[in-house]
Amino acid sequence: MPHAWKERFLHLVFPLICAQCRLDLPFPLSGPLCGRCLARLRPLEEPQCRRCGVPLERAPNHARDCPEPHRFLDCIRAAFAYSAPLPSLIHTFKYQNRRAVGRVLGGWMAGTYGRIPEIRGMDAVVPVPLHPRRLRQRGFNQAEILAHRVCECAGIPLENALERVRHTQPQWRLSRGKRSNNLARAIRASPGVSLRGKNCLLIDDICTTGRTLEECARALKSAGAARVCAYVLARD
Ligand SMILES: [Zn+2]
Ligand SMILES: [Zn+2]
Repeated sequence: MPHAWKERFLHLVFPLICAQCRLDLPFPLSGPLCGRCLARLRPLEEPQCRRCGVPLERAPNHARDCPEPHRFLDCIRAAFAYSAPLPSLIHTFKYQNRRAVGRVLGGWMAGTYGRIPEIRGMDAVVPVPLHPRRLRQRGFNQAEILAHRVCECAGIPLENALERVRHTQPQWRLSRGKRSNNLARAIRASPGVSLRGKNCLLIDDICTTGRTLEECARALKSAGAARVCAYVLARD
């Protein structure tokens, strides 16, 4: 069977569905979205806080507006807002073990990277680490899959410079008051890693309060990093 026919046949037998609206994708679309859902994807627009990247109603004034001032993070930027179709895509990627979806998402992040001047000029790309126990459950670190695509596009080396030394509850499961204690000393620079004078770009899938990123930035700066910016797929 010629290659194109084989693809068409497989598509018929195993139809692919859109991760957002669940409709069958017409050949040759291979997803993760149908054309209509793809058109809903919007880059995160201005105005946003110059430091933490949170979308704002009006022009930024950091001192007045920043709801989550960070000590160690120099800035947070996101490729997209955390609105449809991003939540379904991220869910498909992380919980249905669809690495191919992750590579598409990473490609989109890489495509938007060049348009954000604040996160350029970096020396290393560092994925937010997973605890080994969660890594075994999931089989992959979602941040690392995203980070690989950003590295390829930006020509910056990937450094797995961080590790989780304590298993913690996901931040979204906890009340506001418990969140900072939950993460205290849960993340550290991997032994032997030196980041002296390097500018590091932290990568993760979602940023809500930025506490996990801040904890990572603290660890990176304690290992000598000069500047730490975070770049996430979606900003909640
Ligand atoms: Zn769709
Ligand atoms: Zn802010």
